[in-house]
Amino acid sequence: MKRAIYPGSFDPVTLGHLDIIKRAAVIFDELVVCVMLNSSKQGLFSPEERVELIQLVTADLPNVRVDCSRELLATYARKNRARVVVKGLRAVSDYESEIQMAMVNAKLNAKLDTVFLYTRPKYAYLSSTIVKEMARYGADLSDFVPRQIIGMVRDKLAGSTLEPRERDIG
Ligand code: ADP
Repeated sequence: MKRAIYPGSFDPVTLGHLDIIKRAAVIFDELVVCVMLNSSKQGLFSPEERVELIQLVTADLPNVRVDCSRELLATYARKNRARVVVKGLRAVSDYESEIQMAMVNAKLNAKLDTVFLYTRPKYAYLSSTIVKEMARYGADLSDFVPRQIIGMVRDKLAGSTLEPRERDIG
């Protein structure tokens, strides 16, 4: 069985992420979307909330599982017997750091390979940071996040009194 891991912060999951998830789920037998927790990055949504949001928007995809980890990706992949990591590429600026990470992961776990899926042009501008900025200003989120989670994202940022820059935690 070909199991792949799609790692990220998903703080929160966006339509760009969901597009990559759906396409990877067609290519692999099982896709594990893993919320990777980075100790230096606190995030807006808790790990449990991020997992819950991804579960909500992937409920109709039977071969997609959602998990959360504080481990190194190379270690997580070994324990979960996955040999492929899926990453999405938006722009050339993503490329440099993603290639570097792919090489580090292969160094740490020689059995692990990384597959890149290009973004659909309509999602090329989209990131979780943009979603949070737009939600703070009460913008229409329907082009940014799956409709099932628009209310939850809006509620999370409602009543925010700090300036956007002060609250910008990635
Ligand atoms: P971000 O916080 O920038 O949205 P994540 O760490 O949550 O990023 O992203 C996880 C993975 O999804 C990364 O491989 C990233 O390049 C990819 N990704 C993020 N947004 C998009 C998008 N709009 N289109 C394609 N891939 C994306």
